Amino acid sequence: MDIQNLLDDIVGTIKPQLGQGETARYIPQLGDVAADQFGISVATGDGEVYASGDSEVPFSIQSISKVFALALVLAGDGDGIWKRVFREPSGNPFNSLVQLEHEDGIPRNPFINAGALVVTDRLVSITQDAAGAVLDLLRTESGNNSVQIDSAVAQSEARHSHRNASLAHFLASCGNLENPVQDVLDAYINQCSLAMSCTDLALASRFLASNGICVDGTPLLSSPQTKRINAVMLTCGTYDAAGEFAYRVGLPGKSGVGGGIIAVVPNNCTISVWSPGLGRSGNSIAGVAALDEFTTRTGLSIF
Ligand code: GLN
Repeated sequence: MDIQNLLDDIVGTIKPQLGQGETARYIPQLGDVAADQFGISVATGDGEVYASGDSEVPFSIQSISKVFALALVLAGDGDGIWKRVFREPSGNPFNSLVQLEHEDGIPRNPFINAGALVVTDRLVSITQDAAGAVLDLLRTESGNNSVQIDSAVAQSEARHSHRNASLAHFLASCGNLENPVQDVLDAYINQCSLAMSCTDLALASRFLASNGICVDGTPLLSSPQTKRINAVMLTCGTYDAAGEFAYRVGLPGKSGVGGGIIAVVPNNCTISVWSPGLGRSGNSIAGVAALDEFTTRTGLSIF
């Protein structure tokens, strides 16, 4: 299969879907991004990269950062985090408040906002600079030292973070935060505001397709830990649309409201797509369609 031809073809196939959906207007800086952009990159385990469309344009990775924060926490102190966060699909929007109260301050999974705040809290405890730790990992694994936090996006999100602040305060009231609410919120907002391209992200995710082994050959995660992160991505990575994503794409994946999605073909490759128009659950409409096209045409899914 000629992957480059396939990606070029997907860019053409996906064109009619560009601009569908809504950009993430609740973070004004993201609401303003031109919705008719689309990029796709594939990085293979042996270092090949194939890319097409707007694959080199940096975008806000948003919740995709939650995968890397979780990887660092699992690498740093093993399974302890699972006492503070469940690993079940939520069936609710990523920023929902109701479930957290029903379940006494233990978030459903590490990829909804409440769960990610707990993971980032732990990463603050381990590293003192959670967003910096995520940034270092992403720079090293992508090989791109110019990856950085987009401060305009961070400020925009900080000014509109009432929901995440309420989740964090509720977690604190249940004794499920180790650090001050504001420190956790700042770290979370900064990690979400990292800007990267599809190619950067596909490269940086390769350890998830390589049994946890980093680009320099050292292990970040054990093979079982990598299996578990991929499993949680499959069941929870696209929120209340995780069932639909598994049905259409058939791969572990993680989306962000910047319009990016990463997907993992274990022991083979990673795929990163980006297009800013989001569906009801906050996943890129054209991005999901492109991944559906990719796995359907290549047969590269876990099913
Ligand atoms: N920073 C965003 C938020 O907290 C991340 C959400 C997302 O990408 N799904 O609302």
